Amino acid sequence: MNETVLIPLLTRFDEQEEIRWTNLIQDALDAKSQSRKFIVLPHKQLSDAERKMCDIAICANPDLKQLVDYPNLKWVQNLWAGVDNLLALFKDTSVQVVRLIDPQLALSMSESVLLWSLYLHKQAPLYLKQQQQALWKRHHAISPRECNIGILGAGKLGHKSAERLKQNGFSVHLWSRSAKSLTGINTYSGQSGLKQMLPQCQILVVLLPLTQETNGLLDIEHLSLLPTGAGVINFGRGAILNDNALVSLLAKRHIAHAVLDVFAVEPLPKTSSFWSNPNVTVLPHVAAQTQPQTASLIAARSIVDYIESNQQPHFVDKTLGY
Ligand code: NAP
Repeated sequence: MNETVLIPLLTRFDEQEEIRWTNLIQDALDAKSQSRKFIVLPHKQLSDAERKMCDIAICANPDLKQLVDYPNLKWVQNLWAGVDNLLALFKDTSVQVVRLIDPQLALSMSESVLLWSLYLHKQAPLYLKQQQQALWKRHHAISPRECNIGILGAGKLGHKSAERLKQNGFSVHLWSRSAKSLTGINTYSGQSGLKQMLPQCQILVVLLPLTQETNGLLDIEHLSLLPTGAGVINFGRGAILNDNALVSLLAKRHIAHAVLDVFAVEPLPKTSSFWSNPNVTVLPHVAAQTQPQTASLIAARSIVDYIESNQQPHFVDKTLGY
């Protein structure tokens, strides 16, 4: 291995944002490294020959076509928690993927889950509609304890969000692939667990990764199991939720309101009916945004530990897809 280690940064950030990230990662690498000189450069600043020398890359929602220019990659450090796009690209290759695991991201997601759960629990969509009609009308309010919130996905983000909702007094239900036992949280796993949990959830929060198994999971059959008037929050990935099923259940008022932060196609096309659906809140994928200060330290640590101490980072399980 050369003394100088070249690390490409592949993003879709604008130039200013990319410079900011490059500087933060460079500073973090310089602070952490003991014996090597690391140089991080945006993709466009590397020559073809330099790209061929790289065995690690840092990615943030990159243009996947650009990764073809790096034939000798061993692994990729993602600055996002979701890795479905990178896994699809590297499915049949030896390139491994490392996702971002950042407590700051989990904290930020738990804040969004609490905010939008309270939005639905406090019937904010209804009162906003009433304001448009100058209608002064009170509706019965239930306590958080009487409100059952189900979270799909008990990973870094789902678990933290469940704890946050529990602290706020909600009755929390959590579904995952493998069985779990958590104090004060009702846990479920597998298909039978999902069917048992859904009918109880006045609010359903999706915090699953997009995998072969979760793609299209929330179809008409599963969504219909929710109680009438339920709210749905999708902060996982758009393709987990069947759009047509959601729209039809919203029209029937079986689902009262959906808060959508992620979509099968992003940015959400201007032609999407979600934009004008009064029972949908559209967010531009902002539920938990990567924090450059902490993420650059995490990325630098995994790279320096690998190069200088031969410590392999935790690779995403390509078979499971997360
Ligand atoms: P994680 O730590 O990998 O956790 C994934 C969870 O999903 C685990 O609990 C896993 O079950 C469960 N799961 C996976 N496949 C399943 C299946 N087939 N059936 C049931 N449960 C299944 O992921 P994370 O860090 O919490 O992130 C979750 C997702 O959030 C990311 O993949 C990304 O798509 C999304 N995200 C969105 C934003 C945003 O701003 N909207 C930001 C960051 C991330 P086990 O516990 O049994 O393994």
